[in-house]
Amino acid sequence: MKFKEVIKKRFVQRKPIIAVNVESLDQFLVLSSITNEIDNYIIIQFSARNVDWMFSFYGDLLTSKRNQKIFFHLDHCDSSDIIEKCIDLDFDSVMYDGSHYPIDHNIKQTNLYYNRASKNDCLLEVEVGPISGVEDGFGSEKGDYFKMCEAIEMNQNGKFDLLALTIGNAHGEYKTTSNIQPELLKNFQTSIPKAIPLVLHGGTGLPIETLLECVDVGCVKVNYSTEFKKSFAELKKTSASHKELVEQLRLDYSEKIEKFYSLWF
Ligand code: 13P
Repeated sequence: MKFKEVIKKRFVQRKPIIAVNVESLDQFLVLSSITNEIDNYIIIQFSARNVDWMFSFYGDLLTSKRNQKIFFHLDHCDSSDIIEKCIDLDFDSVMYDGSHYPIDHNIKQTNLYYNRASKNDCLLEVEVGPISGVEDGFGSEKGDYFKMCEAIEMNQNGKFDLLALTIGNAHGEYKTTSNIQPELLKNFQTSIPKAIPLVLHGGTGLPIETLLECVDVGCVKVNYSTEFKKSFAELKKTSASHKELVEQLRLDYSEKIEKFYSLWF
């Protein structure tokens, strides 16, 4: 099934797809081997700061993708070169992150990228209200919330497929999750003519109730990076061989993904 159809179906069912950032071929191969076993989809995301390894292994990645329930996504990106390259490489979706710009500029760029991506059957994710937190040493500690008027404006004048709205969620480890406000998403969905598919960033450490609430109001893609990256780093230290690393990683990642999907399937 095409990514667009899967998103549409899952949005209607209010059942999300997990999206996991990878930064090495080992992580990629382990994740791609898990999809058959769990019989569910995995969106494999590549960070814009870390795409070079992906471009150099792209042939291998494409081969492993074949016949697997995998989609390729470019995470947070403001570089037209990288976005265009991923669209040309037949990525299933790309994220243009213009959340740090004034909303008019964010919308203008969003529409340019949408025209470009949709010609290649590639979905476009955009963001309103920058997601805080620190990932790969980048970002800020400050919690943030989207502005309702900007999100409504994006919905009215922007062309996109998926929208990430900041509700106090953050990348990296949470110091607290008590400030996260899923009800803002509900307010947004009821303020626009028709509810739309949303994306939830900052999945690591989110309480189950928050996850369930966000999915219930339309978050169809849920992003994880830190949790998966951490166990990879720990297993690299403790595994006696590469074979053991891959085996342990497979068990760890399967368990994490099964735990996520068990909330809805
Ligand atoms: P975490 O750092 O919470 O895993 O979130 C990752 C993310 O949202 C990537 O876009």
